Amino acid sequence: MRTKIVAGNWKMNKTQTETVTLLNDIILNYNKNSATKLIVAPPFVNLSKAVEICNNTNIIVAAQNMHQAEGGAFTGEISANMLVNIGINYVILGHSERRMYFKENDALLANKVDTALKHNMMVIFCFGEELKDRLENNHFNIIEYQLRDALFHLDKNQWKNIILAYEPVWAIGTGETATPEQAQEVHHFVRNLIDQVYGFETSDNVSILYGGSVKPDNAKQIFSKQDVDGGLIGGASLNANEFLSIANSI
Ligand code: PEP
Repeated sequence: MRTKIVAGNWKMNKTQTETVTLLNDIILNYNKNSATKLIVAPPFVNLSKAVEICNNTNIIVAAQNMHQAEGGAFTGEISANMLVNIGINYVILGHSERRMYFKENDALLANKVDTALKHNMMVIFCFGEELKDRLENNHFNIIEYQLRDALFHLDKNQWKNIILAYEPVWAIGTGETATPEQAQEVHHFVRNLIDQVYGFETSDNVSILYGGSVKPDNAKQIFSKQDVDGGLIGGASLNANEFLSIANSI
């Protein structure tokens, strides 16, 4: 059975003080018996604090990014080793904001994925088309290349550490969500693609999250689709009630 996951990408939001408040709020109110895996991804400077607070809970703390090198002269960057050393074993890679503002491409992302896996980390790998690609009906092509170029060099066993997040760029932070049918269509396409390359066992076991303006009032419909295994949540993850309401919609 695939793992159901709801992950919150806090982006560049929340000071340490606010991180403590939000996490305590989540911990107080989350469903401890739920089978859904809950992940939070605060900014780097708050990760240690978040790990401390989430200790003895089922909540997993993830990083929003990491550098591909093991270490060295890369001013301002953070390595996999540094993350693992403070108890971070999950990392989001390939978010569209990293691709757009920091020019991360599929070749670089393939390197980052390799480094993360070398450290036995779980990777939440984001992909998705821009609006122009969808309008030109080119989105399946774009998605296929994003996955092929960044992930299809992995061996079957390494896929156990991969979580996918389909995030159409036009739906991120815009309030415009993909319809449940659009999400299902892409998720199904991706699962088929993985099936063709790696076989049924791998494709059936990989969790594919949807991300892009998921809110408490649309989560249930999106999560009801067969190939949607949860969500990567931006804006709504900054509020404990909204985040937990989404998590409880699976
Ligand atoms: C995201 O940035 O990963 C995201 C899905 O953002 P939002 O939920 O705000 O659209």
